[in-house]
Amino acid sequence: MSHTGETKKKIIHFYCRPCGEYHLKTHPHYSEMFKRKEERARQREAKEKTQRGRGNKGN
Ligand SMILES: [Zn+2]
Repeated sequence: MSHTGETKKKIIHFYCRPCGEYHLKTHPHYSEMFKRKEERARQREAKEKTQRGRGNKGN
């Protein structure tokens, strides 16, 4: 058995929406997208919290 460092295949690609194709995660758009995602999740959480405070009526 030989042990090379890369026995596991890591997913180092991601789908870049701005470019419309797959890129390495070192691609500048990756961190950008990640940031946006996080921000969105945060906003969502905040929104849900405020909505919960008012009660779940309507819709
Ligand atoms: Zn890109």
